[in-house]
Amino acid sequence: MSKIVTAIKVSNFSFYYENKKILEDISLDFYQDKVTAIIGPSGCGKSTFLKSLNRMSELEGEIKVEGRVEFFGQNIYERRVNLNRVRRQISMVLPKPNLFPMSVYDNVAYGVKLVGWYPKSELDAIIESAIKAADLWDEVKNKLHKSALELSGGQQQRLCIARALAVKPRVILMDEPCFGLDPIASGKIEELIQSLRSEITIVIVSHNMRQVTRVSDFTAFFQPNENRVCSLVEFGSTTKIFTNPSDQRTREYVLPRMN
Ligand code: ADP
Repeated sequence: MSKIVTAIKVSNFSFYYENKKILEDISLDFYQDKVTAIIGPSGCGKSTFLKSLNRMSELEGEIKVEGRVEFFGQNIYERRVNLNRVRRQISMVLPKPNLFPMSVYDNVAYGVKLVGWYPKSELDAIIESAIKAADLWDEVKNKLHKSALELSGGQQQRLCIARALAVKPRVILMDEPCFGLDPIASGKIEELIQSLRSEITIVIVSHNMRQVTRVSDFTAFFQPNENRVCSLVEFGSTTKIFTNPSDQRTREYVLPRMN
């Protein structure tokens, strides 16, 4: 068996929006080239936690943190950290496709151009490879210069994943990537996660427990604690969390949702 490497190590992490504590004392490792799912009740802080892993949360308001989030050993909350680099290496896909009113090609090229200049042929190859990796090439190869907003919801979401992949991140954070999609479009996103699995570190927030059991290697269950602040109840292999969780609260949350 290959050695497990930690890509992101979260230690005693607490998070505040406008002095209101949202996350309390979370310690959790995300393993390289594995899929980790974050589950828990709505409003408890899963998205906030996800966005804290690449410091996107601070784009939304005044924040304060305690503890550490280390990305391959570097605390991303250190003052001297290069934020653009962090967000490029830890890329994010939001619940609703957030494409720009530009062509399919330009949407994917956008982030790549921010990173550096490439000759046209090289840029074309990067775009094609990212769209292929997002399993969308056959559907859009003849529409690369048409508006991305003309694609279906599921195609738009896969294009967002292509855009995230194009900058060659080491981690992709996915916040409910199948939100609002029909079962066929959701299935395609799941297949895509399966195909990326073992090549890239993925952290996914999902409310769909069956989906979590299908796509993830590890699961972290979050719930508000006695202070009504989100904390980690249990982390383990997805098989364990869904068949034999250690904590009664995990059992009470997970098992009814599997029926
Ligand atoms: P979940 O993803 O589990 O549904 P969220 O992370 O979206 O939960 O929300 C957790 C808490 O953080 C909620 O109480 C929400 O109101 C609060 N929150 C989320 N975003 C912000 C923000 N930008 N400013 C202040 N509070 C926020």
